[in-house]
Amino acid sequence: MRVMPRDKCIRSGWRCDTCGQLVLDLEAGWVEWLAAEDTRGRQKVSGLRLVHRRNTGARSQEPRGCRYNPRDEFRKNRGIVEGLALERFAGPDGLMLLLSMIAEREVPLQELIELAKRVQIPGYEAVYEMIHDAVSEGVITPSISAGFYLQCEISEVLEWAKNRTSAKTLHLEPALSGACVAGTSK
Ligand SMILES: [Zn+2]
Repeated sequence: MRVMPRDKCIRSGWRCDTCGQLVLDLEAGWVEWLAAEDTRGRQKVSGLRLVHRRNTGARSQEPRGCRYNPRDEFRKNRGIVEGLALERFAGPDGLMLLLSMIAEREVPLQELIELAKRVQIPGYEAVYEMIHDAVSEGVITPSISAGFYLQCEISEVLEWAKNRTSAKTLHLEPALSGACVAGTSK
C-alpha cells in the first residue's frame, strides 16, 4: 500500500471565492467582508469571503486583485470593506476569534460557520466539492448532520475520491484548482 503523507492529502489549501483558483497556504489568504448601516442605522455585515491576499493569477490585472475594491463597494451601497489575514482565523486563537464574531452576531451566522469549518476542520475544504456526490453514492452517511462531518468521514471521502480520480487518470490535487469541477458536477 502506498503511504500518502497525511498533510499533503488533507491540507491542500482553499479555493479563492473570487477567482476560483487555489489559495496555497494561510499566508496567501485573506478574509474580508462588507460593513454597512441598514435603514435603522444598525451595522450590517455581508459578503464574507476567503480570497487571495495579493494580486495573483487570473485577477492580477485588477488593482485590488481578488479583494473587494473599497471605492466600488462604497459607491454601491456605502459598504466599508473590512478584512483580516487568513492566518488570524487559524489555530486556537483563530477559533476564539471566530467564536467572538459568532457571539457578536453582526456577520450572518451561516457564513461564519462555513468559514470556521473551512479554516478549522482539516480536510473540510478538500472534500467540499465532492461530498455531495459521496453522500448520494452512499460513501458516507454523516453521523452528525448534513454539512457537518467527522474526520473519519472526511478521510473516507478523500480515499474514495482518490480512487475515483485515479480511475480517471486525474490527480487529486487539481480537484481544488478547478480541474475537477466538471468531473464532479453532474
Ligand atoms: Zn483569487
